[in-house]
Amino acid sequence: RRAKFAKLKSEPPVTRDGHRVTVMVNAGLRDDVAALDVTGADGIGLFRTEFQFLVSATLPQRERQQRLYRDVLDAAGDRPVTFRTVDVGGDKTLPYLDHDADDEEENPAMGWRALRLGLERDALMKAQARALIEAAAGRTLNVMFPMVSEPWEFDEARAIFEQQREWIHSRGRKLPTEIRYGAMLEVPALAETLDMLLPKLQFLSIGTNDLTQFLFAADRAHPKLAMRYDWLSPSILRFLRRVADQARAADVPVAVCGEMGGRPLDAMALIGIGIERLSITPAAVGPVKAMIRSLDRGKVMEAVADMLAAPQRSLREPLKRWAIENGV
Ligand code: PEP
Ligand code: MG
Repeated sequence: RRAKFAKLKSEPPVTRDGHRVTVMVNAGLRDDVAALDVTGADGIGLFRTEFQFLVSATLPQRERQQRLYRDVLDAAGDRPVTFRTVDVGGDKTLPYLDHDADDEEENPAMGWRALRLGLERDALMKAQARALIEAAAGRTLNVMFPMVSEPWEFDEARAIFEQQREWIHSRGRKLPTEIRYGAMLEVPALAETLDMLLPKLQFLSIGTNDLTQFLFAADRAHPKLAMRYDWLSPSILRFLRRVADQARAADVPVAVCGEMGGRPLDAMALIGIGIERLSITPAAVGPVKAMIRSLDRGKVMEAVADMLAAPQRSLREPLKRWAIENGV
């Protein structure tokens, strides 16, 4: 099987009815970029910049951040890379970031993390913005913000980047040819104001790991809950379909970058609700590509629409049967 997937490396992820799906990988370390050549993926859809912060004993200085980002862009060549600004805080605490005694959190996943921390500790965010902008001189910079809960948070984060861009420009230094800004949708509340946010976005990326834990109020790491709610439940798929429809209507590309997209059956369901871009763990690229190349997109969209109109507890079993009957 491994050999079969390796052979798929140079085959594009095109469905039987001729639809090209974009399949990218998630990464976080310099060496992860090698996965692009190994898998033949279309780019890095999620580069988790906090990895460098988490493996470091001290706060990574701007120059060190910048070196990593430039190395990643160099290694990726003309394949796009989307950098996510640091998602630390909560359970991913940094020992060198001063925490007060009352910072102890009972619910770290819903706590002071990601953009919430970044906007308050804006020195951290400014340094990262400058590192990313300088690293991407002469190229496109794709940057996205984690845990955006309301549109104004995106506005503030973008403003920090724009200020840094102007500052770098005023020093006569070379800028990226373009900065493309995106938001992660992983806090359900954002779906309610998405119409206000979409016109400002160049892209949207759905983080289904956090999104589903918040939708179901079920800790994503709790072993007793892992089997209880299914990614292929009607509530999740209907939610995602609504977001995908809204983004498409606004002409904003939308990807799924959570682990869900790395499971072939779940990825098939995502294609069935209109998702055309996936960013997944590198080991999943082969199996997901194989699924895509045996899939009729028009047919799976019809099947999923029917199943969601007469919902069952989970679409997993009916979708499995459908896949077998349809040679996927
Ligand atoms: C997610 O929440 O789905 C996601 C991709 O981000 P992370 O897993 O890093 O929280
Ligand atoms: Mg997340």
